[in-house]
Amino acid sequence: AVRLTELDKWFGEFQVLKKVSIEVSPGEKLVICGPSGSGKSTVVRCIANLEPYEGGALDVLGGEPGAAGRGEVGMVFQQFNLFPHLTVLDNLTLGPIRALGLSRREAEDKAHALLERVKIPDQAAKKPGQLSGGQQQRVAIARALCMEPKVMLFDEPTSALDPEMIAEVLDVMEELAAEGMTMICVTHEMGFAKRVADRIAFMDAGELIEVGTPEQVFTAPKSSRFADFLDKIL
Ligand code: ATP
Ligand code: MG
Repeated sequence: AVRLTELDKWFGEFQVLKKVSIEVSPGEKLVICGPSGSGKSTVVRCIANLEPYEGGALDVLGGEPGAAGRGEVGMVFQQFNLFPHLTVLDNLTLGPIRALGLSRREAEDKAHALLERVKIPDQAAKKPGQLSGGQQQRVAIARALCMEPKVMLFDEPTSALDPEMIAEVLDVMEELAAEGMTMICVTHEMGFAKRVADRIAFMDAGELIEVGTPEQVFTAPKSSRFADFLDKIL
């Protein structure tokens, strides 16, 4: 479903991604971890078509150009990125009305169903600023799901949240995983990774150093850099 082949990317003179190769199959859950500045966000932003790249190849959902732009790739950011001046309901219906051509009625029915699914059915009329961080992030997940994505990308979706709100967002992500969604998640929540990930990828300094099943990497990572990283965060 998503294939990166020796992806190279520079910011000016600085090479931020160095021949990153990985394939994520339909229904697979990949967790990406690694130190700050290693290129994790850049990888998911490239997959989401939010960044250009200079070398290698990127095939997202059969290489259809602009797949990400049509909403087939959903993305959830650390900082929620909701429209602050719109209600929760309007945040959810905007994309489906404009990009999928749904009527307002259809879009609202869908939005309410998704708010139910992320367990905040009563928050539709509020503005994002009137919600907790955990609620806002669940709105962001619902908003992405409104576009009927085939792949969901998460970039540290819980790292801006207070501890008591992390679990409620991870629970929603776990349910989505159980429903068969293809997911690529940048996260350092290793409990989530253990429960949900089919594979865990470790990045360092722009390189994808190692990929393995949770069992492999938590018992015996091959690279010492990954072992050192896991020692620090576990
Ligand atoms: P973090 O864990 O802190 O989120 P990350 O692994 O997501 O880090 P990226 O955000 O992908 O790292 O950044 C990788 C490198 O690219 C960093 O050194 C960063 O400073 C640099 N970088 C990111 N965005 C830009 C940009 N727009 N222009 C120049 N350099 C950038
Ligand atoms: Mg990042």
